[in-house]
Amino acid sequence: MTEQREEELMALEAIFDPSDLEIRQDRCGGKIFIAVDLEEDRQIQVLDEHMQITVHHLPKLALVFTYVDGYPEEKMPEVQIECEWLENVLLREWEAALSDLWQKRQSFGEVVLFEWCQIMKEKSVAMLYAKEFSLSVSTAVLQRIRTYDRIIRGLRMRSCEICFDELLGATFESGSAECNHEFCPNCLKSHCEAKIENGQMTRVLCPSPSCGHPVDGATMKRLVEPKHFERFDQAMLQQVVRSV
Ligand SMILES: [Zn+2]
Ligand SMILES: [Zn+2]
Repeated sequence: MTEQREEELMALEAIFDPSDLEIRQDRCGGKIFIAVDLEEDRQIQVLDEHMQITVHHLPKLALVFTYVDGYPEEKMPEVQIECEWLENVLLREWEAALSDLWQKRQSFGEVVLFEWCQIMKEKSVAMLYAKEFSLSVSTAVLQRIRTYDRIIRGLRMRSCEICFDELLGATFESGSAECNHEFCPNCLKSHCEAKIENGQMTRVLCPSPSCGHPVDGATMKRLVEPKHFERFDQAMLQQVVRSV
């Protein structure tokens, strides 16, 4: 009986990345982190009572398990799903679904944790891909989701929408503070400088088609050549003076 559990733990150790698996020292339980992988073009709307953001990545779900006497022959492990961006009601429903799977398969006396992880993955992906799905969360959770998304996006290779070069996500620049469109610094620089050279200083917009948000001054200053920034800065100043 304990041999089967030990084999199960060793299989999990072989399958999961060490950062996704915390096995208790007594080897009677642990925690498995499950990434919810969305395709690059899939975005999730996340809102609190003040604002709405769009993200590509959500923090991992965690399956906390404790072995009990009689597992896997007669009993299932104690299980709890942890995820701060999902409602508790839903988490309890998913736990019930895991329990159902166990009930169905009990006669086989097989270990179940890996299959449970797969089910959680399927359920979360099915939910996140549902039409017009959005997440309502507290402000603190929204901030943590935003930070997580930025970190993960920064670590991955992505292709620039304009030149199609593959670059590390962290090197990308936002078109505007008000939108989530990002481009490689070279493309955004060329775009801004071309607009300035054409005298369209006050209409330097995010290059994403139909976006319409202006590229902000700080981004402009960081990217374009000083002589271009000077022209841009002058034009903005004149615009302010004229509007007074
Ligand atoms: Zn580019
Ligand atoms: Zn944009």
